[in-house]
Amino acid sequence: MKEITNYEKRRELYDKAHKKWGDDSQVDMLIEEMAELTQVLLHIRRQNKDVTVEELSDEIADVEIMLEQVKVITDCNYFVEASFEKKLKKLKKYLKEEKHICPSEVRVR
Ligand SMILES: [Mg+2]
Repeated sequence: MKEITNYEKRRELYDKAHKKWGDDSQVDMLIEEMAELTQVLLHIRRQNKDVTVEELSDEIADVEIMLEQVKVITDCNYFVEASFEKKLKKLKKYLKEEKHICPSEVRVR
């Protein structure tokens, strides 16, 4: 199991999955997994269904695995890293500001 946590090993699996199922299928799976995570988060927030930490962790892992695959397929990993830095700087700036801005109100131009 530990060997799969290594990115290079995961990348081999992603390449095999991409070869087997193709672009559209992998993007569809990302969308489906994001919807499943959304559903679990809503269950937690609305407290209308017991959700275990294992269920939540599984859904987060599903989304992260599919995100990694879509980043490989679209060859945008470098750009995502750049965006990551930019977004974290923006978050840091907002946290320093006195004015309250909810993260969902943050818009990118
Ligand atoms: Mg899932």
